[in-house]
Amino acid sequence: MALPIVAVIGRPNVGKSTLVNRLAGVTDAIVHDEPGVTRDRTYRPGFWQDREFLVVDTGGLVFDDDTEFLPLIREQAMAALAESSAAIFVVDGQEGPTPADETIAEWLRQQSVPFFLAVNKCESPQQGIIQSSQFWELGLGEPFPVSGIHGNGLGELLDELITHLEPVEIPSETSEIKVAIVGRPNVGKSSLLNAFTGENRAIVSPISGTTRDAIDMVVERPGKAEKEGESKTYRLIDTAGIRKKKNVDYGPEFFGINRAFKAIRRSDVVLMVIDALDGVTEQDQKLAGRIAEEGRAAVIVVNKWDAVEKDSHTIYEQEKLVKDRLSFVDWAEIIFVSAQTGQRVEKILDLVDTAAEGHRRRVTTSVINEVLEEAVSWHSPPTSRQGRQGKIYYGTQVASQPPTIALFVNEPKRFNDNYRRYIERQFRQHLGFTGTPIRLLWRGKK
Ligand code: GDP
Ligand code: GDP
Repeated sequence: MALPIVAVIGRPNVGKSTLVNRLAGVTDAIVHDEPGVTRDRTYRPGFWQDREFLVVDTGGLVFDDDTEFLPLIREQAMAALAESSAAIFVVDGQEGPTPADETIAEWLRQQSVPFFLAVNKCESPQQGIIQSSQFWELGLGEPFPVSGIHGNGLGELLDELITHLEPVEIPSETSEIKVAIVGRPNVGKSSLLNAFTGENRAIVSPISGTTRDAIDMVVERPGKAEKEGESKTYRLIDTAGIRKKKNVDYGPEFFGINRAFKAIRRSDVVLMVIDALDGVTEQDQKLAGRIAEEGRAAVIVVNKWDAVEKDSHTIYEQEKLVKDRLSFVDWAEIIFVSAQTGQRVEKILDLVDTAAEGHRRRVTTSVINEVLEEAVSWHSPPTSRQGRQGKIYYGTQVASQPPTIALFVNEPKRFNDNYRRYIERQFRQHLGFTGTPIRLLWRGKK
């Protein structure tokens, strides 16, 4: 889920950037190394009570001037407002309402975003009431006296504002995990399905999926001993598609890849089944590519392990081979099983649990920035030929399923693939994310 955005608007010099610094926490301050930085849109993470948001400083809004850059700034402010869940309109309490404030107020009234009027520079509470009361005349509702410098009054404003923000979604532990079992014909998909739906599990019921004859099967697995009572539910996607082909004569090329693509799309975790005797084929690579594209978590199941002649190295050699050939999903865990003998089949669902957990995971902004700080101090971002160094201002997770982290940097193009992979590895090493793709969005300040 993306974080809601709060836009801060107002004419120049009313204290917008001071307020944004206050909302985002002073310790988090971005070091600006270029002039005119508040003219760009910068997103900063902030929170109040249980709500997290991004604050965006829109730059000074000026309507009654035709200097070259002003229409651009205005466009920026409008774009920022369009994507915001709420806005704070800042005015200067020491100066009182100005014609420019009135113009902005008039414009703001036509927007559909809920907004709050912050009368800034109200350091003294008694004075503040008098100063802010002048702003009733803007016709925007209650003015909140605040001080960006000292922080007073902001709590009252934020208490009201956050009622317009969705709380951060914390997925419940017990919600069902949607699992797609995919792979070429004869790799052992239906044998695995039988193992999952076997005797020690209650099949709750077959449930109709979205496509006409896609039947999902819901199975329950009793919780582990240490989590007594908790059970896990898995929805096995399109089990009809896995079983049905038995009665149909398909040509050698056909292995229901479109059906597999549909199942992948509906799933949280994909079980990618590979035949140990055949190894990874081109079709397998196609499926892996689709899994990565769709941002699904995955577990690679190498089946028919019983039929492989092996010594003590075989499993490591095979693992490397599979990883190399399935580079699209090189973050997925690999398990070697035998649906026939039942060897390690029980473990597959443990890996599914881990992958689903990583896929749903949300990491706080402060933890992400700790990892980034550490990563950057070990290995600084590349420097361009002109000698300008890449800078990461901060990162924040903007979505889950798959985990998506936005990195705000001075210039995205200064970060080459090597460095991007390095940062991704650091996130994986320090934050887990086992079995799930992660997406990194490299954003410049504009
Ligand atoms: P912006 O152009 O709207 O982003 O305004 P700034 O944040 O750059 O502030 C403009 C001026 O107002 C600066 O000189 C600030 O020090 C001052 N200022 C900002 N907030 C306050 C405040 O809460 N109280 C007082 N007294 N001055 C403030
Ligand atoms: P599907 O087409 O992917 O659903 O594959 P099936 O589950 O129908 O299995 C295809 C063939 O492989 C059947 O003859 C199975 O008995 C055999 N098979 C499945 N799993 C294993 C296994 O773990 N070991 C061996 N040796 N054969 C297996």
